[in-house]
Amino acid sequence: MRTRKEELADNLQDVKERIVSAAQSVNRDPAEINLIVVTKTFPISDVEILRELGESNFGENRDQEAAPKAEAITATWHFQGQIQSNKIKSICEWADVIHSISSAKEILKFAQSPRKHQVFLQVSLDGEVARGGARPADLAQLADLVNESNNLELLGLMAVAPLGVDPKNAFSDLAQINQGFASQFPNSKYLSAGMSGDFEAAIKFGATHIRVGSSILGSRSPH
Ligand SMILES: *Cc1c(COP(=O)(O)O)cnc(C)c1O
Repeated sequence: MRTRKEELADNLQDVKERIVSAAQSVNRDPAEINLIVVTKTFPISDVEILRELGESNFGENRDQEAAPKAEAITATWHFQGQIQSNKIKSICEWADVIHSISSAKEILKFAQSPRKHQVFLQVSLDGEVARGGARPADLAQLADLVNESNNLELLGLMAVAPLGVDPKNAFSDLAQINQGFASQFPNSKYLSAGMSGDFEAAIKFGATHIRVGSSILGSRSPH
């Protein structure tokens, strides 16, 4: 039987090969793609193994689950879940990068953090803002707020392909939104998009940060 370490190493290698082919297919340098391993629902022991295998960026969706993991393991920790405003203070204690900011209210709260954070603004690609993400028309105002804060650094936009939509169409829309956004905010240099099922499409449309869970760790049991 394979050990968990062998299994994770094989899965990682497979994902990395897929990253390289997707990047090369559109003449991008694979080194531009940052892999964030999404460890939500998986134990600290898996994060330790991934750390030994050389990974140093981990993504989590829930504050309660992530805080003890980040406490145990030194790495760059990414928060990518829906933001509950009463959790922001706690998220600030462990998260280095916040991917899922969608409102001015959230920015003003994160801006009160005692430490610095890098942030992505999440954009909704289907207008269903209840599921997270700002409307494209609201992004400029949010970016201004981030840029006005001393401890938030704008990295770029983040998106999740809507259910039931071909991810290629979703990420093509995202690339267009991002082009306009980055020309207005030249400090926005990155794009967080793509998960296990669609990261190749995301890379083809310019993603620099992909968030991959199940292709590396296996399928998650529902919460
Ligand atoms: C869970 C999650 C991921 C990872 O999803 P997989 O399909 O397991 O790769 C990426 N991004 C967000 C926002 C998530 O919630």
